[in-house]
Amino acid sequence: MAVRIDGKVTSEEIKEEIASRVKEIKAEGGKIPHLAAILVGNDGASQTYVNAKVKACEKVGFQSTLVMLKDSISEDDLLDEIQKVNDNADIDGLIVQLPLPKHISVEKVTAKILPEKDVDGFTPANVGRMALNWPTYISATPYGILELLKRYQLETSGKHCVVIGRSHIVGSPMSILMARNDNPGNCTVTITHSRTKNLAEVARSADILIVALGRPEFVTADMVKPGAVVIDVGIHRIEDASKKSGYRLIGDVKFEEVEPIASAITPVPGGVGPMTIAALLYNTLLAAEKKIYS
Ligand code: NAD
Repeated sequence: MAVRIDGKVTSEEIKEEIASRVKEIKAEGGKIPHLAAILVGNDGASQTYVNAKVKACEKVGFQSTLVMLKDSISEDDLLDEIQKVNDNADIDGLIVQLPLPKHISVEKVTAKILPEKDVDGFTPANVGRMALNWPTYISATPYGILELLKRYQLETSGKHCVVIGRSHIVGSPMSILMARNDNPGNCTVTITHSRTKNLAEVARSADILIVALGRPEFVTADMVKPGAVVIDVGIHRIEDASKKSGYRLIGDVKFEEVEPIASAITPVPGGVGPMTIAALLYNTLLAAEKKIYS
């Protein structure tokens, strides 16, 4: 039976490490990390995510600022708001919660964020630094996966890593990170997507299979090599009358089938998901301590 890679426990460990560093900073009279979040509109899910991020900041001892803007805000006015945060020397990190209203360009907004404060790691400068293996803010989900591989001491060097999905936020950065000359890294990487032929065969050749295509229970046991490490990034809500909430969460991997043959696997929920806020806090600490851009 596979080792269950527990993202809940690991993310709590990381948050505790961050909280104890904040205590040290306070004792030394240093700068308390300060994260600003911009939320445009009143989309329920986005509000929940932003609130969870702000709450997590408070829990580890960070300062936080939530800037709430109407969804009718013009693109120029939003860019001005970002500029204000860029210019505010007290704020170390800035995130703009996505998605944005349709009349606003995500590219323009992302490019406006000062790379030094881009703790989501989405700006072209920081993505470029990642590709070059320079110090950077690695975006939340890829950071979470690397940290799980590292903390569970799962060997990656020389392994064949297959990534399913090529999105900018998960698949593409993961393929770059796993190929870098680093630990975790040093894999031979195959990136696959919706046009890939013989996907099952390619997936079956993976020592490490990273699944981020956004299709419920797509990866079945016949697509997994016995002994592979399986990282399931997908999250889907499906109706379940037996649950109080009326739904349950499942991933892109058919867990019950794959767990018995994998050597290690992330469950859904409780795998990759909980790591994302820890990543954001970690990047904000790096920003406050000027560890990336000095
Ligand atoms: P996306 O929709 O942006 O990208 C999906 C990718 O999968 C595309 O590159 C596409 O080419 C590929 N794809 C689609 N169908 C395919 C198929 N049949 N065969 C092979 N490749 C196929 O998705 P995303 O933003 O990367 O998210 C993927 C999943 O991960 C979603 O379920 C999302 O909810 C979840 N997610 C979870 C977290 C987390 O914190 N755990 C973070 C981000 C995304």
